[in-house]
Amino acid sequence: MKPHYDYIITGAGLAGLSLLMRMMQHPFFDTAQILVIDAAQKNTNDRTWCFWEKEPDIFEPIVCKKWEQVSFIAPSYKSELNLSPFVYKMIRGIDLYTTVLALAANKTNISFCTEPVLSVQSTQTGATVELNNQKLTATKVFNSILFEPANVLAQKSADYFLWQHFKGYEIKTETPVFNDAVATLMDFTVDQSNGTTFMYVMPTSTTTALVEYTLFTENLLADSAYNDAIYAYIQKTYGNIKYTITHQEFGKIPMTNFTFSSGAGNVINMGVAGGQVKGSSGYAFHFIQEKTKTVIADVVAGTNPLRTPNFSQKKFGLYDAVLLRVLQDKKLDGATIFTQIFSKNPPDRVFRFLNNESSLIDDLHIMSSVPTRIFLPAALYALLGVKRRRA
Ligand SMILES: Cc1cc2nc3c(=O)[nH]c(=O)nc-3n(C[C@H](O)[C@H](O)[C@H](O)COP(=O)(O)OP(=O)(O)OC[C@H]3O[C@@H](n4cnc5c(N)ncnc54)[C@H](O)[C@@H]3O)c2cc1C
Repeated sequence: MKPHYDYIITGAGLAGLSLLMRMMQHPFFDTAQILVIDAAQKNTNDRTWCFWEKEPDIFEPIVCKKWEQVSFIAPSYKSELNLSPFVYKMIRGIDLYTTVLALAANKTNISFCTEPVLSVQSTQTGATVELNNQKLTATKVFNSILFEPANVLAQKSADYFLWQHFKGYEIKTETPVFNDAVATLMDFTVDQSNGTTFMYVMPTSTTTALVEYTLFTENLLADSAYNDAIYAYIQKTYGNIKYTITHQEFGKIPMTNFTFSSGAGNVINMGVAGGQVKGSSGYAFHFIQEKTKTVIADVVAGTNPLRTPNFSQKKFGLYDAVLLRVLQDKKLDGATIFTQIFSKNPPDRVFRFLNNESSLIDDLHIMSSVPTRIFLPAALYALLGVKRRRA
């Protein structure tokens, strides 16, 4: 390893490798010396990403399944939603890691290091990255490592913090049972006693699907509780079918109004560490792609990638805080909120809203779908910065 690089990317997960992919596609970076550091080898299929978009982006070649329709199911409402102009897409973690790493292996200006990063820091002339036995310097560091757990950070200043936690099984059935043209975005017909809880079913063929048990709550469950819920759901929904579990994944994503640092000086934070998880939904893939596009554009243009939040970002941050307040204080359950939103709005408006791309008119429609007596006080509290009373 050299002591100095033009750019060091700390963290080679979704954010780090999305940025690296975009760098490899731009001639500006052809001669730049780039180092990518991650504690892990990135050779396991540790997560599956789903997201919706209108136009294909850089990872289109590794999309393993697409749906133009999704279903929303709740005790009092059921609908199949046509997503047009959006398409819901799935990418397997391992496909993204191997694709980007294989492309980068052919580039003489890109190096890799598998080591834990202890810290990153901006200096007057660039930035430093501290490893166990050495300190490297770079002109800029793009960091997606969260050096403190999200819930510990959030305790310091956030009002709302829930985990979106889930366990997913990829299953293969002996006989065809799934309609693979329709993905189940949320099925709320499961026990809600822990808080907002739903099943998420992504059929990749008539005999294979990712079945995920998801909760928005303050505490995680015992592993057996996720397993029992998935077994019970498969039996309730598909009957006594024979199936094998081909893959399992577990995730916990912070849902909070905590302001994650966007970086400082020559250190630019991205991904979960940079606040690119949508506080009220846990979706991050789309926001990470948007962030890495902007970072590349700024570096190429010679402008500072560190920006203060614009009006739109503040607006959606406020909406997230309002929804989190309602959910965390249990003013209204998630099943009712999402039922009202999905039953009273066309799907493209809801998906624009969830992608932080809706207009003020769209927002007003969405807001008028949910009970004013509950959401208006929560909005006033969030607007006025009234602190939530902790239990
Ligand atoms: C199982 C799972 C499923 C998800 N599914 C979706 C989805 O369907 N749609 C969606 O929008 N979002 C989803 N998310 C949320 C989000 O998109 C992912 O968490 C995404 O991977 C975040 O990207 P990131 O780069 O911020 O973090 P990561 O991808 O986690 O990358 C961080 C990297 O930093 C490395 N690292 C950490 N600490 C150190 C250290 N000290 N030194 C060196 N390296 C370190 C890690 O090894 C890792 O490679 C999911 C999350 C999980 C966990």
